[in-house]
Amino acid sequence: MGTTLGPMTDQHTQQPAPRHGDDRGARSFETLAIHAGQEADPLTGAVVPPIYQVSTYKQDGVGGLRGGYEYSRSANPTRTALEENLAALEGGRRGLAFASGLAAEDCLLRTLLVPGDHVVIPDDAYGGTFRLFSKVAERWGVEWSVADTSDPAAVRAELRPRTKVIWVETPSNPLLGITDIAAVADVARSAGARLVVDNTFASPYLQQPLALGADVVVHSTTKYMGGHSDVVGGALVVSDPDLGDELAFHQNAMGAVAGPFDSWLVLRGIKTLAVRMDRHSANATRVAELLVAHPKVTEVYYPGLPGHAGHEVAAKQMRAFGGMVSFRVAGGEQAAVDVCDRARLFTLGESLGGVESLIEHPGRMTHASTAGSALEVPADLVRLSVGIEAVDDLLADLSQALA
Ligand SMILES: *Cc1c(COP(=O)(O)O)cnc(C)c1O
Repeated sequence: MGTTLGPMTDQHTQQPAPRHGDDRGARSFETLAIHAGQEADPLTGAVVPPIYQVSTYKQDGVGGLRGGYEYSRSANPTRTALEENLAALEGGRRGLAFASGLAAEDCLLRTLLVPGDHVVIPDDAYGGTFRLFSKVAERWGVEWSVADTSDPAAVRAELRPRTKVIWVETPSNPLLGITDIAAVADVARSAGARLVVDNTFASPYLQQPLALGADVVVHSTTKYMGGHSDVVGGALVVSDPDLGDELAFHQNAMGAVAGPFDSWLVLRGIKTLAVRMDRHSANATRVAELLVAHPKVTEVYYPGLPGHAGHEVAAKQMRAFGGMVSFRVAGGEQAAVDVCDRARLFTLGESLGGVESLIEHPGRMTHASTAGSALEVPADLVRLSVGIEAVDDLLADLSQALA
């Protein structure tokens, strides 16, 4: 790794001095979410990390950096606080925060791959991830093939001599498919490939892929981590410190970093991640039950339902089943679009993971880029991001939208 690309570390990738308060002995998720990386500000005692809205830092003599800070693309204290927090929540050694989830993915694939390498991607994935491989990485000579990652044997069947990455999304977007992370980690290890898990739908509160054998966790922090539909961001978390250094080199060399205010917003969201995910999961369970019993609904995709193909694996590797529910509507595409149009409390819009409930038509909206490919989604599919409003209000809105 790295021989053709020159040195993978330089002074810009040195990690600033850690800020987290290990001396507090706190290890439970809810406590880490509030405290990891967020020691009171050394200058003022501010109890949350200030927004260091600054590009450069005064040096005490040439090269005399205070706390490792030199220029904010390389490192910024607000981003450092978020990056340490992300590493702690995923149980990793290094977290890196980016301007968007796709910026994180782009940095990852340009760090791990060179022309001629091959990636196995899932047959159900975020449309933008598919577009990144099929429309961007492919032009740079990266080969990809598609597998049903819920079947480890199907993943193994796609391996090639130059397979360097197996990419998994679980639960997947938009069909809520479940992949057994530990089983696919075994496949990756035996092939000498790295397992990447997009953990956006679950969040680290519900699922921790590194502990199950994944090499890299990807997040769109735009979604549950931020949690309030007010910021776009992304993250990578790894356990291997050398890989962490290589990613930090590329993060700085390519520059799509999270800004200080965006980092602060994501940190602010993360403090309530655990309570939000509990409520998202409880509300989504009630919504899924309503949909299963509804005569106009032909199929419901929610891993919490005992009849879901991935239910047992999800129950094994997740704390709860999350807030995303998809379903198919009797009457085809127009009927599905009509349901989206009639919803009132569920806001018609892309994205997910915020406190407010959203509804969308993946075929025409989030997943339009998969049309005609192996990842095309059913035309009669509706996707819900179930928020944390009062569940009875949500059930009433869905009932009227389906009536
Ligand atoms: C939204 C999303 C992304 C992309 O993240 P952006 O922040 O929009 O760039 C990647 N993966 C999943 C599962 C997503 O939902």
